[in-house]
Formats: sequence, structure tokens, C-alpha cells
Amino acid sequence: MVSHTDVLNRRIVLAARPRGLPRPEDFRLEEVPAPRPAEGQVLLRTLSLSLDPYMRNVMDAVGPAYAARVEIGAPMVGGTVSRVVASRHPDFHEDALVLGNAGWQDYALSDGSDLMPVDGIDRPSQALGVLGMPAFTAYVGLLDVGRPHVGETLVVAAATGAVGAVAGQIARLKGMRVVGIAGGVDKCLHAVEALGFDACLDRHAPDLVGRLAQACPDGIDVYFENVGGDVLDAVLPLLNVGARIPLIGHIADYNGSTMQGKDRRPALLAAVLQKRIRMQGMVILDHYADRFEAFRRDMGGWLADGRITAREHRVDGLERAPEAFIDLLQGRNFGKVVVRVGD
Ligand code: NDP
Repeated sequence: MVSHTDVLNRRIVLAARPRGLPRPEDFRLEEVPAPRPAEGQVLLRTLSLSLDPYMRNVMDAVGPAYAARVEIGAPMVGGTVSRVVASRHPDFHEDALVLGNAGWQDYALSDGSDLMPVDGIDRPSQALGVLGMPAFTAYVGLLDVGRPHVGETLVVAAATGAVGAVAGQIARLKGMRVVGIAGGVDKCLHAVEALGFDACLDRHAPDLVGRLAQACPDGIDVYFENVGGDVLDAVLPLLNVGARIPLIGHIADYNGSTMQGKDRRPALLAAVLQKRIRMQGMVILDHYADRFEAFRRDMGGWLADGRITAREHRVDGLERAPEAFIDLLQGRNFGKVVVRVGD
């Protein structure tokens, strides 16, 4: 067995709970000795780290209902593609590539219960994006909650992101008319030209409400909710009777900036009631047992025959993870954010 006792583990810990948008000082880069696996454990070397919006929620003192908060001084959590560099576990041999949860650090231990083999994939980092959690979220959110029908109109915001880009492309495959909303002209061009959306609107340009009404002449049948905030305000008046809203995320609220100001509840409740809207929250952790196999089969096929494409926003170096994460929370990412940590 390889000894890793002399190896240093760089890790990024939560230094302070952010107020609003996180600042670089809310994170701290530390170096500690790499841990040693006990009987039944493996030592993982992080190759790629996924950055995802939920990480903002677990930084708060009261974390989300579906995940534990990160304690001050503890490493930030996160999905990773890792290499097994030392194994005292019968099911994992050294050198195996696995999908795990090593977090924002070079090395981590696992007892194997949270690991999945990464094999048969062109690019291993796809296991964090288009063949992993975000795309799986898009799949279940759209097919099971959104229930698409041919000829209907779908609106999706964060339209070039890890979840939104896949939700929109699956909706196109199911015969829907797809209107994306994204931050900026380049992202919108990508949504139409590379992802095949019917239209895409820049959320930063004036009169989103009017432009959305023009882009959706037959109203909106499915609103795939990733963002909340001003986009939700623009969508509500256009929803058709019987519309469905898979409630997947509301990133516009994650930094608390929309907690003040106007009260959005009356407009939301009136729309849900009067249009008989079915709005359902979905947390993807609930669906691995029953839907993951179908997702991997379908997505593998769509990727192989070029019907789905995915863009990665790659960042080099663990030390750049805080900056990249702060960028993501402000829409400065263009695609699925993957940090290359090691080789
Ligand atoms: P993205 O890759 O789409 O990155 C986040 C994007 O959100 C940004 O690029 C930006 O896109 C958009 N955004 C940021 N701030 C705002 C704002 N104030 N108003 C509108 N849009 C904003 O992230 P993911 O695809 O990974 O995640 C998308 C959503 O899905 C998130 O809300 C996330 O929490 C949720 N999610 C939920 C899961 C579940 O199980 N329910 C699982 C995974 C993700 P742009 O600038 O282009 O508009």
C-alpha cells in the first residue's frame, strides 16, 4: 500500500458565515497532513471538484432541510471525481476512479458507501455534470414533475447552466417549444445555436416582461424554476391554466438579497390559484434509487448520438474554488463549473 503520511492535504474550509454574497475572506486555504485510511476505508485523491449553488445554502447557520450545514473551520462539501490512491476496502482497488464527496480538498477518506465507479465515460468530469447530479435533476424535474407535451411552451432560466441547459434540451427532444432566459448575449446565442432552443432572452436587458410575452405568444405551460426573483415575476402573468412548475431552485434568493423589498406572495398565490397551477418542489437526492439507471441509459444515448451537448466551465486549481464559486453566484459561469484539482 502506498503511504501518504508525508503528503500534505490542501483544503478550503469555511472561515466565516457569509452575510449576503460570500467574500473571499469567508474561505481559508489550509495545509494539513493527508489522512490515513483505517480498515474498511479508502484514501481518495481529488481530480475534479464540482461547484454547485446549494453550497451557498450549507454555509448558513440554518442549513437547508435536505443537507447538513458546514461547520466553521470544516472543509467545504462537494461532489468530486477522485482516484483511489490507497485502499483498505475489498471493493475498491488502488487507481480506481470514483464519484464521491471528497469536498474542497486534495485528499479525503471514505468507507465506500458514498462512492460510485466512474467508468465507460469519455471525460470523467462529465460524471459531475451531464452524466451526474445536475443533469439528473433536469431529467427528473422535467419528465416527472414538468410532464412535457408536444407543442407546449417551456421557459427555463439559468438556461446555459448545468441544470437549465439539459432541461431545455430534453424539452426540445420531447417536442416542446423552449424559451431560455440567461445572463448575457453570448449565453443566449449559445442557447439558440448550440442547445437548439427556440429563443433566449437576456435577463439583464430592459423589459424582460414585454420580451417574454412576445417570445411566448401561446403562454407558458411549464416553467422550470431555477432562479426565482425577477424572472419568476416576469413568468407569472404568462402562465397558462394548468401550467406546471417544477420548483428546482431559487438562486436569486440564496444570498438573501430579495428577502427585503416587495412582497411577492400575493402575486404567486393568485397565479397558482387562478390558473390551477401545479408547483412541486423536487430534491434530487430522493430519486437516485428509482430513477438514476433510467437517466444514465437515456442520457448516455442522447450524448452518444449528439442530441444533447454540454458545456463545462473549467477552473484550474483548488485555490481558485472560492473565486469561482462567488462568480457562479453572480452568473459569471458559462456552463457546468468544474475545478481541476489534481491529475
Ligand atoms: P448554474 O450552472 O445554472 O449557475 C447558476 C446560474 O444562476 C448563474 O450562472 C446565473 O445564470 C443564474 N443566476 C445567478 N443569480 C441569479 C439571479 N439573481 N437571478 C437570476 N439568475 C441568477 O447552476 P445549476 O445549473 O447547478 O443550478 C441551477 C439551479 O438548480 C439552482 O437554483 C440550484 O440550486 C438548483 N438545483 C437544485 C437541485 C435539486 O435537487 N432541487 C439540484 C441541483 C441544482 P445567468 O446569469 O445565465 O442567468
